[in-house]
Amino acid sequence: MLKIDLHIHTLLGGDSAIRPDEVVARARQVGLDAVCITEHHAYDLSAPFVQIATRENFPIFRGLEYRAEEGHLLIYGVPAGRGDLLPGLPMQTVVDWVNRRGGAAVPAHPYQEGMVSRALGDRILGLKGIAAIEILNGSVRSDKNERAQWAARQMGLPGIGGSDAHGIQALGNAYTCFEDAFQTESELAQALRAGRYTVQGSSADQRSPTIDLSGQAASSPRFP
Ligand SMILES: [Zn+2]
Ligand SMILES: [Zn+2]
Repeated sequence: MLKIDLHIHTLLGGDSAIRPDEVVARARQVGLDAVCITEHHAYDLSAPFVQIATRENFPIFRGLEYRAEEGHLLIYGVPAGRGDLLPGLPMQTVVDWVNRRGGAAVPAHPYQEGMVSRALGDRILGLKGIAAIEILNGSVRSDKNERAQWAARQMGLPGIGGSDAHGIQALGNAYTCFEDAFQTESELAQALRAGRYTVQGSSADQRSPTIDLSGQAASSPRFP
């Protein structure tokens, strides 16, 4: 079993308060076996994590979160940067681009509208070639995650979990439990396609607002 938070942002991406050097301690504290850093638009932004992984002796994968025309897309196993993919392309175009390079494309929080963008919504049902759907995003409400779970069932696709953390306390609030171990980012992409994993964690509205020093999600989900 390999527990990985597949969706994390840090200061390197410009919109998160998480310092790169605090990621591993927090990941260990909440019981993760690995993390995957997914800065916005550019794989290269998270390059400092190569050294951090070595220094801390902790597996750190890197991907990216691409902003497509219709919504956000997590990309694993392809080191794409701004030079490869201009922001705002149609999601299907990017999914095809990722697949041609052996990566895995996973729509993120498909039913959560962004600050400036609409949600991908049911248009996800028309996408071809996505490896999985993010069905448990720790930063969105449970009704949005439930809708994503419904879409995954409709499409016969596996679902991943990730915290979408922009603050250190949120890291690990949702994660993916892989049945098989792997070590490289290409193997991560293959594992995402293989579908042998489940999700753990909670949606944003299912946690106590009080600071939980144990790092565990609230044991009794709250439904305000
Ligand atoms: Zn996003
Ligand atoms: Zn994100």
